[in-house]
Amino acid sequence: MAMTIEPLAGWGRLPLVSAPQARPTTTGELTAAWAVPGRRISRGLGRAYGDASLPAAGGFALSALGMSRMISFEVATGLLVAESGVSLAEIIEVFLPRGWFLPVVPGTKFVTLGGAVAADIHGKNHHVDGTFGAHVAWLDLLLPTGGSLRCSEGQEAAVFRATIGGMGLTGHIARVAIRLRRVPSAWCKVRTLRGRDLSHTLELLAANDGSYRHTVAWMDCVAVGDRLGRGVVMLGNEASPAELPAKNAAAPHRLPRRPKLAVPFDLPECALGPFTVGAFNACYYGLAKDAETLVDFEKFFFPLDTIRDWNRIYGRRGFAQFQAYFPDATAEAGLRACLAAIGRSRQASFLAVLKRSGPANDFPLSFLDLGYTLALDIPGPAKTLAPLMAELDAILVAHRGKVYFAKDAFVSPALIPAMYPRLDEFRLVRRSLDPAGTVRSLLSNRLKLHD
Ligand SMILES: Cc1cc2nc3c(=O)[nH]c(=O)nc-3n(C[C@H](O)[C@H](O)[C@H](O)COP(=O)(O)OP(=O)(O)OC[C@H]3O[C@@H](n4cnc5c(N)ncnc54)[C@H](O)[C@@H]3O)c2cc1C
Repeated sequence: MAMTIEPLAGWGRLPLVSAPQARPTTTGELTAAWAVPGRRISRGLGRAYGDASLPAAGGFALSALGMSRMISFEVATGLLVAESGVSLAEIIEVFLPRGWFLPVVPGTKFVTLGGAVAADIHGKNHHVDGTFGAHVAWLDLLLPTGGSLRCSEGQEAAVFRATIGGMGLTGHIARVAIRLRRVPSAWCKVRTLRGRDLSHTLELLAANDGSYRHTVAWMDCVAVGDRLGRGVVMLGNEASPAELPAKNAAAPHRLPRRPKLAVPFDLPECALGPFTVGAFNACYYGLAKDAETLVDFEKFFFPLDTIRDWNRIYGRRGFAQFQAYFPDATAEAGLRACLAAIGRSRQASFLAVLKRSGPANDFPLSFLDLGYTLALDIPGPAKTLAPLMAELDAILVAHRGKVYFAKDAFVSPALIPAMYPRLDEFRLVRRSLDPAGTVRSLLSNRLKLHD
């Protein structure tokens, strides 16, 4: 199987490696590529921020992007069977005009089906619909020792559960059967409320859990003192055709057209410093109004996708995303400590999002449980990021929090067993599937997810 040496990175462009990559386009090529001896890791659209999709030293990446066919769809149940390299964007393009939507979507639609399962992604509706994995009926897995296995809750359940959220470490996900959901339109009725400080922002999210399917808050990470944790809370429910203006009611599942923008080159470091971020945040918070508006799905779920390559705004230094989960009992204290540390560091970006999360599922490495999750970008380079990340991780551990593998590039392996108490259960399944430990990534080596 031919391989090309390519520069590979996650979305944060930290770290950047040069490694062989195979991109099979047929089942025969896929089987041949997977059988190449040596260390390997599957890769989708590279939207995990850190090192999850990067091969371990001496290994290769197996790109799923050449295998992206949709195979079947059952109208009675909404069950879509597709190859793992298909993107959520492609699924939405085909099915939204017909009244179907994915049950869970992340903040970008440019992720593959395989990547969505491997990270067990969550969306703005975690408190209602859980994670992506909760809607997977079955999946086909290419095993590290050869051959393939169909698994589901009723068949090879331990492998199924370890694969969902397993960051590609149980094998290559070749096909997925996912249940789509009917939606009344491609629009949300969105109520916007301003939280004046952290307690108020958390209270607005928790109080509206029961009445809104989709909830999220933008946070002003540079606000200090009695404004620390102020934010703009957005609460959405899907709109019925009767609630749309006449011009949209006739085709309720059609998305408005908008121009595609792109960041054409890496911006200089000064483009995103404490002054510009402070000015942006003050304007964004100041201009937000307590109001209800109709917002189309594209703008509500994927606001950043209209700007192609927006990760270039951080320039060549790259950036990291810090995503923390805190349980209800410690969330306010933990978030307060994180926001104070980020404020002191003067390294915050304007992209900071707080979400409410619902109860945990039964997948041992899945990220969320009942509480809150904060995600924010922090510009690089790695040497200035490392001390801040270490400080934030210490706060997490002190408040029973955890990091999200799909976003991480910095956490210390010593902290993982406390953050992921079911890690040994995962390792046991992984070891039974891959006794020689050939399926590895930079992330799994760094965090000792195998041993
Ligand atoms: C702007 C932006 C917003 C985001 N918002 C959210 C969000 O709201 N919620 C959320 O949960 N995540 C979010 N993410 C993270 C993203 O959803 C996950 O990292 C997802 O896994 C990326 O999918 P991918 O196809 O790009 O996979 P990659 O980044 O290429 O790989 C991610 C992981 O999946 C594994 N993998 C990929 N394909 C396969 C396969 N076929 N078989 C086995 N393993 C595989 C890789 O080995 C790796 O461990 C966001 C990312 C970005 C860039």
